[in-house]
Amino acid sequence: MREKNLAHHLAELESNRDQLAGGVDERTLARYERLLANKGENVIVGIDHGVCGGCHMKLPIQSVVSCQGEEEIVSCPNCARILYFTREMDLAVMD
Ligand SMILES: [Zn+2]
Repeated sequence: MREKNLAHHLAELESNRDQLAGGVDERTLARYERLLANKGENVIVGIDHGVCGGCHMKLPIQSVVSCQGEEEIVSCPNCARILYFTREMDLAVMD
């Protein structure tokens, strides 16, 4: 359920930028705003089979694990998009 919550939260964050100031820490917000300015849309992407949903680069396992743990917001080391993890994306990560 926690994955779902995060994904939901991020989806809201995407559509309700004006309302997010209270709910997201400032560093994350700043990062998000910067990404949005640089890349336009689609700055929050899922991890899909161990690759970034934005640039499709294979992610370091550490990034996947951190994202899975949801203890921090994880960015793609290649494109810097914010990553989120859902159970559906779990397949083939650990091979
Ligand atoms: Zn990427």
